[in-house]
Amino acid sequence: MKITSAHFVKGVRGTDEILHDGTPQVAFIGRSNVGKSSLINALTDIKGLAKIGKKPGKTTEINLFLVNKAAYIVDLPGYGYAQATPKEREKLKKLIIWYFTASEARPKEVVIVLDVKAGLTEFDKDMLMILNEHKHPYMIAVNKCDKLTQQEVAAQVAPIREIAGGADVLTCSTKTGKGIDVLRDRLFQ
Ligand code: GDP
Repeated sequence: MKITSAHFVKGVRGTDEILHDGTPQVAFIGRSNVGKSSLINALTDIKGLAKIGKKPGKTTEINLFLVNKAAYIVDLPGYGYAQATPKEREKLKKLIIWYFTASEARPKEVVIVLDVKAGLTEFDKDMLMILNEHKHPYMIAVNKCDKLTQQEVAAQVAPIREIAGGADVLTCSTKTGKGIDVLRDRLFQ
């Protein structure tokens, strides 16, 4: 599937009509620095679409991008930015949890983005629990696979698969392009 158009539509921090306007949503979550923005840019093939290495002040909203005039990419704030205060982190976590538990949004797929070296963090495990509880379909994209050998990647991915309980786990690298086409085909038909 080729993405022919993608543009930023809106950033939201709470209830908004856009979250239930009938357009299918593909939501991306992940800890800060896992490469979530890079992945969104690679999938859409638009370099500056999601800002890479964003400062914490710019990551406080849920950003929606319209893809092929047919689906939204929902970029949820990155969690755990090293320089954010505990209060700021808590606020972001609440916004993310709100999207999945209390907003009107029913994403057709949620992509949890991980850094292959870090694997599943406590934050990711909390997210898995919430996604399971609220029956949101999800998959895991293990990014930055260029940083390890194939064997090391396999060793990192095995426990992730176990915890993911049947959800798809795809390996990728926005740096080399590995897995990006597969992920795009999987998410945008
Ligand atoms: P975000 O905070 O999750 O949105 O992460 P960014 O997309 O801003 O990326 C954080 C850093 O990781 C940047 O320096 C990227 O260039 C780098 N990065 C992203 N994807 C990859 C990847 O697949 N491999 C490597 N080696 N670095 C990556």
